[in-house]
Amino acid sequence: MKLWPVAKAYIDTHLQLKVGAAAQEARARRRLVYAVRQAYREVPLYRRRFDEAGISIEQFRGPEDLHRLPFLTKADVQANFPGDIVARGAKLDRCVHSATTGSSGKATNFAFSEETYGHYLACSLRELSMVGYRPWHKLVYIKYSAVPQPSAALGPLFRTAHVPSMVPVEEHIARLRAERPDVLIGYASLIYEVARRASDEDLRYIRPKLISLNSEMSTQEQRNFISERLGCPVYDEYSCEETWMIAAQCRHHNYHIFTDNVWVEFVGPDGKEVPPGEIGEIVITGLRSPVMPFIRYRIGDLGRRSTRQCDCGIGFPLLESFEGRADDAFILSNGGRVPSLKLLNTFTTFIKSDLGLMDEFKLVQTDLGKATVLLVKGPAYRAERIEALCERLQSIIPEPIDFTVELVECVNDPGTVKHKAIESRVDPARVAASSELESA
Ligand SMILES: [Zn+2]
Repeated sequence: MKLWPVAKAYIDTHLQLKVGAAAQEARARRRLVYAVRQAYREVPLYRRRFDEAGISIEQFRGPEDLHRLPFLTKADVQANFPGDIVARGAKLDRCVHSATTGSSGKATNFAFSEETYGHYLACSLRELSMVGYRPWHKLVYIKYSAVPQPSAALGPLFRTAHVPSMVPVEEHIARLRAERPDVLIGYASLIYEVARRASDEDLRYIRPKLISLNSEMSTQEQRNFISERLGCPVYDEYSCEETWMIAAQCRHHNYHIFTDNVWVEFVGPDGKEVPPGEIGEIVITGLRSPVMPFIRYRIGDLGRRSTRQCDCGIGFPLLESFEGRADDAFILSNGGRVPSLKLLNTFTTFIKSDLGLMDEFKLVQTDLGKATVLLVKGPAYRAERIEALCERLQSIIPEPIDFTVELVECVNDPGTVKHKAIESRVDPARVAASSELESA
């Protein structure tokens, strides 16, 4: 990979941190209009769909017209890659290729140009720069596979090391002792385990200046624990494989939405933006990937927009809160949802109030009105406290749930890449369809 596109993007993305809120929004709107029109002109899938929906592309003026455009789903990407979803004339053999697997286990493939990839890499470094990373720091990330980097001809600058995620925690600790990271990046559950299991002796060598958690939602309590144990601030970021950075926490721990990379909508059941402060489904439009545009992509998360401004001086708007994966949320029989983070926080409350109650847990909605709590007992396990926990869970779910508690040795299947503490196996489409039938 060439160095120049990354270096150029590095400077460009970092300069954006100096741009005020109003100018930042104006730029994002222009990029959005450009991205949507370009997708229509160059990508067969969008041309076909927008035509079918009777959309005149020249009349697309900006965010206020987004709700008229059809959504893009993971299944659409799978069905149309590469033929219909890649821009005409794009040279796929010169692109960076990547893939993701959903809960279905089916791979979704995608590609972006070297320039786009350079921008993504620069954006992920910028997220760290916002909270104190400098080019002479050593960055160590725990990830499933290594991230391709530009040729390493930079001597002491931009040093990075990869620790594979699929090894036991003891090995993570040993590798981190050897690598001595200044900045540590990785899945929340893995770094939480490192913080729990590392000895005081280990922590004499593992002394990062900051930690950035990614890929999984984490609670404030988990982040506080990691921060206390490893003696440095812990920040959270929000990204996806398809467009990379969506939002990240600044020094004030507020999530800024990177509107130079993505346009984010928070939509209600009618497909239109919900008012700021209300929970909506997060729908993103990539602003930087002309080779394979993602327009109104449903990534399956829930969140709330903020109208606050942050004192840190960064002009990117704020994400008020991230409510977890939409497909982890509990589904109600009327099609409503209980965000997974709310359920997760109930567990955290008990873990804090009843130390040693459980070592690990997982909550699975197995069907409408049914859930299983998988538990690895802790040294101070008491069945009646788990009953109280189920009662507390019930109190935040507005319809009766039949809870089953199962004591297990391990809550996740070995080989699972992302660990989900809360999971729903109910298909929301099925519920929506059956409630329509009932009302018909
Ligand atoms: Zn801020």
